[in-house]
Amino acid sequence: MRYFRYIHLLITSLVLAIDLLGCGSDVRKVSETRELMGTFVEITAYDRSPSEAKRAIDLAFKEMERIDQLMSTYKRESEVSRLNRDGYLENPSQELRYVIEKALYYSRLSDGAFDITVQPILKLYTHTYKELGRPPTREELESAKELVGYENIALGRNAIRLNKKGAMITLGGIAKGYAIDKAIKSLRENGIKSALVNAGGDIRAIGVKPGGERWHIALRNPRKEREYITIIYVTDEAVATSGDYERYFDQSKKVHHIINPKTGRSATELISVTIVADKAIDADALATTVFVLGPKRGLQLIESMDRVEGLLITHDRRIIRSSGFKRFERPFRSG
Ligand code: ADP
Ligand code: MG
Repeated sequence: MRYFRYIHLLITSLVLAIDLLGCGSDVRKVSETRELMGTFVEITAYDRSPSEAKRAIDLAFKEMERIDQLMSTYKRESEVSRLNRDGYLENPSQELRYVIEKALYYSRLSDGAFDITVQPILKLYTHTYKELGRPPTREELESAKELVGYENIALGRNAIRLNKKGAMITLGGIAKGYAIDKAIKSLRENGIKSALVNAGGDIRAIGVKPGGERWHIALRNPRKEREYITIIYVTDEAVATSGDYERYFDQSKKVHHIINPKTGRSATELISVTIVADKAIDADALATTVFVLGPKRGLQLIESMDRVEGLLITHDRRIIRSSGFKRFERPFRSG
């Protein structure tokens, strides 16, 4: 134990020394925040040339904005809105096809817990709670549920079709992750070796900070704004969190935006799910998926996947970690 502490101290001072050296070699930090995809997106990059970093950050934001223009249900002329309006979309972008294909993959993997066709239910809740100030009737909920089912999506090379009249999709549980991945790709292509993209708590990093320190991310206590549960340390990984505490329809906050497609109601077993994976699209989709699956099946899914870890918080405030999660909670990691 004593030795351990000694070694730890040694490593710490070593890293500190490299860090100072790093600063000496005039690596500069550039950071910018924009409002995008219904949240604040912050991109931070370290580079010798602040103007190069600034340019790379601008291009990365442009990529995210482009993805948002294609996939948002809030933009009338997005590909997703056109698909929802017409029931089909000709010549879809390769990006939309990729994201829908990923979504279908997670639907099959989770036996339909992840299902982008829940949009009619979200729309119903918005209409009744927000516009009429009441919950939906049983009949209303039943007819919205009829429209749900990922098997109604026909994904072709030249067209996407929704094989049920009135069916609609939402990419709210996956598109943000994809946009983060696109930003990371763009930063890399523009020569950035050290960066962090943070879209409202969904994050992916490139490399390490100058001096070799990992990026640390505090996981907020979902019920106490100012407290955090733990700190995790990442390098080239992505982290995404799904929680029931940010978007809700009713005053009591019981009806929120993550829907169990089987019941048509908000998923209730968990209050927060954090996933660490290589790509943000997977972390994002899996966080939503595990949230719906609940602790038992959710954990099973995480454990069945390679290079995926998770931290789950149950309704009764228990914290559950997947078998390999702890390694992200150590600043210095081997393997
Ligand atoms: P956030 O948007 O806060 O990051 P999530 O990543 O969990 O949270 O995404 C929630 C969004 O996912 C919802 O707003 C909705 O658009 C979509 N969604 C809700 N339920 C499901 C589901 N069962 N499967 C796939 N997507 C869902
Ligand atoms: Mg998600």
